[in-house]
Amino acid sequence: MTLEGFFNPKSIAVVGASRTEGKVGHEILENIKKDGFTGGIYPINPSADEVEGLKCYPDLHSLPEVPELVVVVVPAKFTPGVMEDCAKLGVKSVIIISAGYREIGEEGLKLEQEVVQIAKRAGIRFIGPNCLGLMVPDKQLNASFGGELPEPGGIGYISQSGALLTAIIDMAKAHEIGFSTLVSIGNKADVDELDVMMHLGSHEPTKVIAGYLESINDGDAFVRYAEKISHEKPVLLIKSGGTEAGARAASSHTGSLAGGETAYDVVFDRAGIIRCDSIESQFEWARAFAYQPIPAGNSVAIITNAGGPGIMAADAIEREDLTFAKLSDETMASLAEKLPAAANVTNPVDVLGDSLADRYEHALEVVLDDPSVDIVLVLLTPQAMTECEATAEVVVRLSHAHPDKTMLACFMGAGKVHKALHILRHGNVPDYDSPESAVATIRAMCQYGAWKKRPKRVVKLFTVNRHKVDRIISRHLRRGEREIGETESKEILEAYGFVTPKGSVATTAEQAASIADQLGYPVVLKIWSPDIIHKSDVGGVKVGLVGEQAVMDAFDLMMYRIPQKQPDADIMGVLVQEMCSKGKEVILGMYRDPRFGPMLMFGMGGIMVEVLKDVAFYLAPITAEEARRMLVRTRTFQILKGVRGQKGVDIDKIAEGIQRLSQLVTEFPQIQEMDINPFVIGPEGTTPIAVDARISVEEA
Ligand code: ADP
Ligand code: MG
Repeated sequence: MTLEGFFNPKSIAVVGASRTEGKVGHEILENIKKDGFTGGIYPINPSADEVEGLKCYPDLHSLPEVPELVVVVVPAKFTPGVMEDCAKLGVKSVIIISAGYREIGEEGLKLEQEVVQIAKRAGIRFIGPNCLGLMVPDKQLNASFGGELPEPGGIGYISQSGALLTAIIDMAKAHEIGFSTLVSIGNKADVDELDVMMHLGSHEPTKVIAGYLESINDGDAFVRYAEKISHEKPVLLIKSGGTEAGARAASSHTGSLAGGETAYDVVFDRAGIIRCDSIESQFEWARAFAYQPIPAGNSVAIITNAGGPGIMAADAIEREDLTFAKLSDETMASLAEKLPAAANVTNPVDVLGDSLADRYEHALEVVLDDPSVDIVLVLLTPQAMTECEATAEVVVRLSHAHPDKTMLACFMGAGKVHKALHILRHGNVPDYDSPESAVATIRAMCQYGAWKKRPKRVVKLFTVNRHKVDRIISRHLRRGEREIGETESKEILEAYGFVTPKGSVATTAEQAASIADQLGYPVVLKIWSPDIIHKSDVGGVKVGLVGEQAVMDAFDLMMYRIPQKQPDADIMGVLVQEMCSKGKEVILGMYRDPRFGPMLMFGMGGIMVEVLKDVAFYLAPITAEEARRMLVRTRTFQILKGVRGQKGVDIDKIAEGIQRLSQLVTEFPQIQEMDINPFVIGPEGTTPIAVDARISVEEA
């Protein structure tokens, strides 16, 4: 259902309009009126004839027309009644400002659910409750108590915190930042972040969507639609920890290594959403996204009148993994022709401290024409002869003349550059306090540009034996067993194309020796018990055993020691296994995030995973390219590629393992957590082996 009625209504009724200054019901009415809303405005209050010079009505039914938008400011307990009135009249859009719902506990939650029911039945969409309201500057619509309307502009803002919005509006004024819309979504009982994002995605004046969120209502829908929205326009979100419980009881390595925010990072990455750490960086980035083109590539040229800031910018470019543009010979020749002999004509181009606006102009024109340059950063310090305002005008004019090139400015200082900054802002060239913040902005833009150019996602499907897995999982669930031990976990993996070490279970030392003889030496002995999850912890793994005697001794020792260490463990026997001698140990794993689904993990494996914590996560189902990117994100990757003359391992085989795991956990929602640790991987052309595995399941 469209949200148009909220953002461009023809008439507004304020239920609970008040004559008393300082009351929310008064503020909202005053804001709607004062900020110049041109449609019908109807105060509703049975105990007043007039509010703010407007005729007041006792209830919604007495109005001369059905209002397109109803703003509700009455105490929570009266809102179901107001909603019923709206339903009867056929009102479609309601904003509930009032607090006193789920945020106060059980009783408030009930009330909120009641309001949701009424709205659902009547096909009413509502924003809130417990919110600040809504602002649409270019429609002079201020249905909020967030103060004066900010300037119109290209940023659409969504906030789960109303109070934060007031600070943002105040800050935006000081920096001359304009908005297309500001929406406070409050408890988001109906309209949530995704609804507003979808609306803003197709809202022409909105060039960038920014927001502050504490949670996401519908994880599945978010994953499905957010990617489409970010293709339309950039989405910049702050996601705070909020009230969601981060800690979960996890039995797997994978589960315990995932932090509360892991899933959000992964989902944002997949959807191309740019996650910001602070309001400052969010607005620094949003201004550039709103008014400058997404860079075609990541090659940056700097023009400066001061050496120091030029070097600072150059350092930042290197740190942020951007490319320092290499100017062409023609560019350098033209620069040399027009600039004094002492000027630097290589990047960073230094027009020198005595530069007037004309030298900046020459330099900019030439550099902008160089096809190897995607982004130009103009630096200026206000020295004795510097023409700050005239230079700002040049920058604005040339930015407009080159709409295909990204242009950012950093005019350093305060009082002396103040007017110049005003010119830049109104000319849609974003300005930055420091070269570093300008370069960080460029990096964010380049990352988004790269994300948009990613190849289409294709998830490969392998031929597998689903039936077999289904049988094993069903049997465990039927018996109420949540943990699938090593042997059967490996059968599951084999059904999905993994190779596991050969071996079988022995219940006597002699049997162990005879299995070992058949396998060939060396072998590994492992305790087999459904009650022992991490076998090494209790001395339940013995590697590198050679000869019958060694095997029998190891068997006896395990049978003697382990019951002492863990008397309650039910011991079924000992697994005698062939030993994989060559390769590196990595971990492949998965935990199911309650909101977003299966999160895959890759990292340094073996018994040190939890100590080193060198892991990367991604959402299943995963593509080959995404699996490879997961690998690259870990430090382990450098080791896997081969260091100091050591041969590297078969990286593509690890990526394939991740994809097979992805298919398994996608096809079996019963799988809650699992580890393949270690997954032993050798040089190119060898087959990786799933040496150890455990899976926990639940009825899905
Ligand atoms: P757990 O994780 O329950 O302690 P594992 O089966 O993962 O038990 O064994 C612990 C470690 O022993 C592995 O990380 C690996 O280094 C080594 N190991 C176990 N089985 C083998 C094997 N078949 N080949 C080579 N190394 C093994
Ligand atoms: Mg293990």
